[in-house]
Amino acid sequence: MGAVCEYYDEGLGSNITRSYILSLDERITSIKQEISKYELKIEKEETANTNGVNDQPKEDLQFMTNSKNGCFIEGNDGLHHYFGPGSVISFIHIASKMIGLKSSDETGPVSPEFDTLPRVKIPFDYSILSNDHCKVLISNYLTNIYPVYPLLSEDFFHFDLMVKNYPTKKLIFILEILLVSAAHIMRQRSDFVPIKMLLHEKVLSIVKNMVGDCDGDSLLALTYLAIYESLDPEVGKTIWKTLSFACNTAEKLHLTSLQNNCSLPGVTVKLVPKQRLLSVLYKMEISTSITLGRPPSFLLTRRQIEEYIHDTQLKNELLIEATLFTTLSSIYDNTTDCPILKLTSLPPTDPMVYVLSAQLLSHECSECNGQKETFVNNLILKSMELLEIENLSLKSYHAINYWSCLSNVSIATISLLICKKLWPQLIRDDTELNLSILLGQKLVSLLCSGWFQGWHVRNFIDLCVDACFPNATAKR
Ligand SMILES: [Zn+2]
Repeated sequence: MGAVCEYYDEGLGSNITRSYILSLDERITSIKQEISKYELKIEKEETANTNGVNDQPKEDLQFMTNSKNGCFIEGNDGLHHYFGPGSVISFIHIASKMIGLKSSDETGPVSPEFDTLPRVKIPFDYSILSNDHCKVLISNYLTNIYPVYPLLSEDFFHFDLMVKNYPTKKLIFILEILLVSAAHIMRQRSDFVPIKMLLHEKVLSIVKNMVGDCDGDSLLALTYLAIYESLDPEVGKTIWKTLSFACNTAEKLHLTSLQNNCSLPGVTVKLVPKQRLLSVLYKMEISTSITLGRPPSFLLTRRQIEEYIHDTQLKNELLIEATLFTTLSSIYDNTTDCPILKLTSLPPTDPMVYVLSAQLLSHECSECNGQKETFVNNLILKSMELLEIENLSLKSYHAINYWSCLSNVSIATISLLICKKLWPQLIRDDTELNLSILLGQKLVSLLCSGWFQGWHVRNFIDLCVDACFPNATAKR
């Protein structure tokens, strides 16, 4: 007792105490515990993967409650999701009550085969991207996507270089551009579907490692990812998350303070004018927010847009979106003023304002008695007008945001169906209205092909058409 217990270790050439051995032993135990924690986690993930369960929460949403401004819906994950008053989900909820249809049970969420479809993982190999494929994809990007989202231009590409030989800093962006273009082209050429799938996994794995950097390049990469998700909603159903993340990064980099002229940190981002990056991001964020019926992550005022955005086309597009958003917020705000009177007092405007106000069909009050018919008439005309516009844009094969396109077309079609059923005395030309409804139904079906999550909406519209055309004369 009292003596220090130690011995001389020849290998180390020094004295080793018993307390040192004890401390080593404790560290080994704690490391073993740490390892077993990770092993358990990996095991859980593997079981989940082999069962073919996809890790996204199921979209089997059950209707819960609605408030004046939108509705709350409980998902299978037990969480409540809020959908604002302009959203298609919220409108389906109202429409099902007005026409007397049950929406949640009959329309069913997704096909059972989809629920059990295993996820296939194939290792990425650059040889899948032949030079011919790349040429088709890049030229499609420059013709159809760049005009809508003018970020990296023709100067960015090295046409004589194989993709894998692009400089490291540029590689992610060329892969993202090929992905965006493949998602666009695959609607007409199914041979691009496997290329899109392989590119998607590769791009996700690179972007995940970049986002921690919080610089201009990671912001640009997130913006391209959001463009991809808007074109391929089946896989990219998290576009709003990607966009909020990108907007957050943009704010951290002071991109939203328009008077700030410092360039963004990063290499490739220097090839894109700052205002363009901001405009593209803002355009996508605000149209996605309108679709979900909730406020965007940041808001630019008319004055800011007019003063600081110099590209005329982008300026006009942003002004339309920003005006739409402010108008909708004033119609759906919490004041007690009658929203129909507010809407009908506005100067004639873009058909979207009326279509996104379709929830007001269920509004009743003593103040707007005489105005309700004017509202219904205008909504019919504007919905028909919007369906024609969307029909042309789908035909012309322009890059489109599938999320907001499906939402607009669906709301317009359901509005026409409600008006046909509840206000038949106001219909001037029944044949024209029926044709418009069938056009809407066709467009919804087209937009939802290969997009299982959109099937709730499509099934509901089919159900409404069946209910509103009992003689089956005008069915598909
Ligand atoms: Zn009223």
